[in-house]
Amino acid sequence: MTAIICGKCRQEMQEVELEQYEFEEGIVLENVRAMRCPQGHVTFTEEQAQEMERRSEDIKKHAFRFVRSVSKSARSLVIRIPADLAKHLDINENSKVEMIPLGKKKFMIEVK
Ligand SMILES: [Zn+2]
Repeated sequence: MTAIICGKCRQEMQEVELEQYEFEEGIVLENVRAMRCPQGHVTFTEEQAQEMERRSEDIKKHAFRFVRSVSKSARSLVIRIPADLAKHLDINENSKVEMIPLGKKKFMIEVK
């Protein structure tokens, strides 16, 4: 394997294991393999990044999720929030939420 040089300080990087790393927002992985230089800059090889992606996907698959159909109300579309999720998020009929599109097939709802 050829040496990996730090893009910030040009020093050689060594493989280390990070105690925790948040590869995706809200998903914290433990004991993550990474490359680190003597200055403490961190980067990931393609193989390490793929491993983190695979582990993040695994966690998402096992996280609790709800599937609901979209219905219509006047000109708007309605998605019902399951009672368990509402309780978990502490939202009620007076809550305000912000909807943020994340690409074409995803959006995030943030409780205000
Ligand atoms: Zn560095």
